[in-house]
Amino acid sequence: MNPLIAQLQSIVGAAHVLHEGDLTAWEQDWRKRSRGKALAVVRPGSTAEVAAAVRACAAAGAAIVPQGGNTGLVVGATPDATGTQVVLSLQRMNAVREIDAANLTVTVEAGCVLQSLQERTREAGWLFPLSLAAEGSCTIGGNLATNAGGTQVLRYGNARDLCLGLEVVTAQGDVWDGLSGLRKDNTGYDLRDLFIGSEGTLGIVTAATMKLYPLPAATLTAWAAVPSLDAAVRLLGLARGRLASGLTGFEVMGQFALSLVTRHFAQLRVPFADSSPYGVLLENADHESEAHAREQFESLLEAALEDGCVTDAVVAESVAQAHQLWHVRESIPLAQAQEGLNIKHDISVPISRIPEYCAQTDALLAREVPGARLVNFGHLGDGNLHYNVQAPEGGDAAAFLRDHEQRVNDLVYAQVLRFGGSISAEHGVGSLKVDSLPHYKSPVALAMMRAVKRALDPQNLMNPGRVVRV
Ligand code: FAD
Ligand code: ZN
Repeated sequence: MNPLIAQLQSIVGAAHVLHEGDLTAWEQDWRKRSRGKALAVVRPGSTAEVAAAVRACAAAGAAIVPQGGNTGLVVGATPDATGTQVVLSLQRMNAVREIDAANLTVTVEAGCVLQSLQERTREAGWLFPLSLAAEGSCTIGGNLATNAGGTQVLRYGNARDLCLGLEVVTAQGDVWDGLSGLRKDNTGYDLRDLFIGSEGTLGIVTAATMKLYPLPAATLTAWAAVPSLDAAVRLLGLARGRLASGLTGFEVMGQFALSLVTRHFAQLRVPFADSSPYGVLLENADHESEAHAREQFESLLEAALEDGCVTDAVVAESVAQAHQLWHVRESIPLAQAQEGLNIKHDISVPISRIPEYCAQTDALLAREVPGARLVNFGHLGDGNLHYNVQAPEGGDAAAFLRDHEQRVNDLVYAQVLRFGGSISAEHGVGSLKVDSLPHYKSPVALAMMRAVKRALDPQNLMNPGRVVRV
């Protein structure tokens, strides 16, 4: 047996070092775009065990791939094909260590599944607002490592905004206890923010202290039919003005994206499906009462109808109806998968420029990649669109991707650059975009990123080949 495997067994117990049998769940990424081969999957049960496992790997010169729920979308949590990398899964470290009601914080281990963290804090009477379609499987450590966004960002911010402190095992196997829970701390460089969004390339997050919020008294959902993206941006402005911090969700969906939902999930009812180029899902969380929330929503929608930025609207009458509306939004990626292979983007541009970005880029794609079908939807309230491209109707999707994926990406990203945006607003870089990044990030920024990587991980053992190459 490989001596490193034996050593890892002595650290975490033989039962928690997997190196034989079917390791697909750890070796294949969620979108099945890549299948690697691990030397072993090690599943430590404590921070001390993570540290000891990292020291053992470092001594053996073995690269480590941290993994949470393996729901990442950029091939960042699975090993390469060499059979030499160790997958370090945080799944067993899932305890909620402490809820501090007076400090409005929860301290939680990295492997805790997001949905169970939401449930645990709700039981204690508090809201943990991070929310995304993968919440039943993704972990808080993975959320922090990718700085996940989701559907509540416009009110509560992304994972970074929700985090007050981290516990990290460094590439050397030291433990940094930064679980302060402080809202103010100006004692030098912000190490916490360095690790958030670093996708496992600088160290391993083993625990975090996260912000909690009061639970709203009522949360209502509405669906508005809007005639254009311009109108959607106007509606966002109106909603911000009238609902203020009550506005917790603002999602836009193009008609073609919605038609895929209708096609593949016939049981789901899409409101105003045929009559409107875009649908917008709005959420209003109110701290007073349901009646107050409904009144506010209705007066907003009346004003929007008068303005013309909305042509029709409906406010969900019950929690079940609200869930149905959200279910439509969340089914778009699944409907896309059913329709066939596709090219995904998670771009951001300033909200004010989104209509112009889409008008120009839609036209460019139609001209340069005939037949490509645009599946445009996303978190308009954050300036973040999933500006995806589906292969032509009835065509060979695999051949389309082979021949056109690079060209489509080049077109979309060049436009992003022109509009002052980002090629990844949510999913991160991973290995999927590691070679694109240098084209869209300034050389000065890249040089600083490499300097940080070299300083914190001089052996290049933490998730090598992801985010930035050194
Ligand atoms: P993994 O996939 O296991 O890992 C992701 C990256 O983080 C890898 O680079 C890995 O090495 C690193 N990592 C994981 N755990 C740690 C740790 N403890 N320490 C250091 N590094 C670590 N993302 C969004 O932002 N917004 C969305 O709305 C959204 N919706 C999604 C919907 C679906 C259906 C799916 C499948 C994914 C979605 N994602 C979304 C992407 C994904 O869910 C997030 O990136 C999530 O945060 C990943 O968490 P995870 O635990 O699965 O991480
Ligand atoms: Zn998203």
